[in-house]
Amino acid sequence: MARHGELGRAPILPWQETQWRWFLRVLDAGRLAHALLLSGPEGTGKQTFARLAAARLLCRAPAPNGACGDCKSCLLVEAGAHPDLVLASPEEAGKAISVDTVRATTAFAGKKAMLGGWRVIVINSVDALTINATNALLKTLEEPGEDTAIFLLHHDRGRLLATIRSRCQQLAMPMPSTTQAVDWLHTHLAAVGKSLEHDELERLLALAGGRPQRALRLLESEQLAQLGKIEQALTAIARGELSPLAGADLAKNLPLYDIVERLQYRLTGVIKSRAARRESLHPAYFLYFDQLLAAKQNLLSQGNPNPQLFTEALLLGWRQLQQQVQAGN
Ligand SMILES: [Zn+2]
Repeated sequence: MARHGELGRAPILPWQETQWRWFLRVLDAGRLAHALLLSGPEGTGKQTFARLAAARLLCRAPAPNGACGDCKSCLLVEAGAHPDLVLASPEEAGKAISVDTVRATTAFAGKKAMLGGWRVIVINSVDALTINATNALLKTLEEPGEDTAIFLLHHDRGRLLATIRSRCQQLAMPMPSTTQAVDWLHTHLAAVGKSLEHDELERLLALAGGRPQRALRLLESEQLAQLGKIEQALTAIARGELSPLAGADLAKNLPLYDIVERLQYRLTGVIKSRAARRESLHPAYFLYFDQLLAAKQNLLSQGNPNPQLFTEALLLGWRQLQQQVQAGN
C-alpha cells in the first residue's frame, strides 16, 4: 500500500467527460455507492479519472466541475500526502496485489477520516488480486466504513468475480477516438518539452492498440523498437515474405499477452475497414479471431505455454488467414 504522489490535479480526459458528469450527478444526488467499479481497456486513463474523483470527494470547497485545487485537501492530494487517501497497487509492476496490501487497506477503511470527510481507496487493479486478496477485499466491500469510497480499477483482462461485481456501482470507461488520443498525446508530450510529428504519433498510438497512456509508457520503454519490428513482421508474414517461424524469433522477448493483443488489433483493423467498404468477410477471419481469444484465455487461466511454440502457432494462423482469404477472393 502506498500513499501516492501522482494523485493530484489534472484536467478531465476529453473522452471521459460523460462519465465524469455522471459521477458528479450521482455524488450531488447522494447516490454514490461505497464502491465504484471502473471497467475499461488498460492504458486509457482510468487512474486519472479515479484521481480526479478522489480529489473531488476530499476537496473542502469543490467547484461545480470538480476539486478546487487550492484548499488544504487539494494541496495534500497533489503532494501525495493526504492521510485519507490510499492507493493499493502491486508491489512490483505486473505482479498481483498481495493480501497484506489489501488487509492494510481494509484496516484503513475501518478507521475514522483524519480530516473529517471522506476516506478514499483506489485499487489498481482488481485484475491483479490474489485469491486471498480477493477474499479480503470482499470483506471490505461488505462492510465499508462510514463515508468510505472505494474505486476499483478493472482492465477487462481477467474475469472479475461476480461477488465483487455485484457489490459495486459500475461505470464503463471508454476508449478515446484516434483524434482525441493523438491530440492528448501531442499536448501531453509538449508539456514535458517533447514533440513528435503527427504521423509518428499515429504510429505510436497504433502500436499501443489505440491507448494513449500505454503509448506514453511505450515511448519510455525499450519495447517500442521491438514492437515496431513485429508490426513490420506481421505485414511481411501476411505477404508471404517472412516465415511465421522467423517472425516468432523476432518476437521472442515480448510478453505473450502483447503479441496476442497486437494480432487482435491488426485483425479488428482489417475487419473494420472491410466492413466500412461493405466487403464480404471470409469465415476465416472469425475462426482466427476465435484462435486469438482462446490463446488469450490460455494466458489468463495461468496457462504456461512454451513461448516459441505459442507465438509460432499464432503467426502460422495469421499467415494461413491471408492465404485462405486470397484463395476465397
Ligand atoms: Zn479543494
